[in-house]
Amino acid sequence: MVIVMRHKATDEEVAQVVGQIESLGFKAHLSSGEERTVIGVIGDERPVEPETFEVLPGVEKALRILKPYKLASRDFHPDDSVVRINGHSLGGQQVIIMAGPCSVESREQLMDAAAAVKAAGAHVLRGGAFKPRTSPYAFQGLGLKGLELLREARDEFRLPIVTEVMSPQEVTLVAQYADVLQVGSRNMQNFALLHAVGEIQKPVLLKRGLMATIEELLMAAEYILSHGNTRVILCERGIRTFETATRNTFDINAIPVLKSLTHLPVIADPSHGTGKWELVAPIARAAVAAGADGVIVEVHADPAHALSDGAQSLTPDNFNKLVSQVRCVAQAIGRTV
Ligand code: PEP
Ligand code: MN
Repeated sequence: MVIVMRHKATDEEVAQVVGQIESLGFKAHLSSGEERTVIGVIGDERPVEPETFEVLPGVEKALRILKPYKLASRDFHPDDSVVRINGHSLGGQQVIIMAGPCSVESREQLMDAAAAVKAAGAHVLRGGAFKPRTSPYAFQGLGLKGLELLREARDEFRLPIVTEVMSPQEVTLVAQYADVLQVGSRNMQNFALLHAVGEIQKPVLLKRGLMATIEELLMAAEYILSHGNTRVILCERGIRTFETATRNTFDINAIPVLKSLTHLPVIADPSHGTGKWELVAPIARAAVAAGADGVIVEVHADPAHALSDGAQSLTPDNFNKLVSQVRCVAQAIGRTV
């Protein structure tokens, strides 16, 4: 249930509603917009009638939310949420570009990629140190060493870092190095991990599971939100379909559908969404045209020798082209890069 307070409801009135929610054994989540405060009732509130709250002073209305997610829903938070990543705002007017190698492989490889993406205008550097590989024999990432290299690149190029965390036990460690923690596709429903990243105060990039519906993605986001972390970024990265021409099927629909269902920022990953470098720029352009708040793209100075995802990695030159094209699309719809 959400309780919409009247315009100009006083702090005491809000406090009284929160007190009532807590006395019934629920948790209250406040969302203070420019116009009014909305209070979410967290817990199974089905036995409680909306009138219980509607009689309280300052309350305009209490609404049951029929969707299985609440805090992620636009009903609870009508305005777009903007997630701050160091100096950048994701979810506002600017389209944010995150780029870098799939995996951190060596100092030279990471620095080359970081220099290239910075020069092309990227805002955030990506790079995996802990890699969720389908085969146990494939390169698993450099682990802690990879995090240390990411920190060096962060300092040298003044780029915030997004990197994946795979287990709840590693959240504290990864959070010491990362500006944004990535929960990968294969872990979208790792509930212990969602709980753990819900308890830190850093942005979380939550990727759609390769077999997950949009509703399941939103419920995974709800886990993070309900544990107190409001800085969740959603990422469409392609889903598995009967189509085999591409690695995954990038679900362009997901972008406007998510933007209507949720206030959270939505970004697109055309690299994993297609699996082929030639398709990355066209899908990046389409995603921005469809309303994505950002893109995340894999870039490698020497894709032929990449230890992971070389086939979908852009060379620095091709990434440069992608950024110029995305900039044109953004301008056409009244946004900037
Ligand atoms: C990645 O970002 O390199 C990655 C493994 O992504 P996903 O979880 O979307 O497969
Ligand atoms: Mn990858």
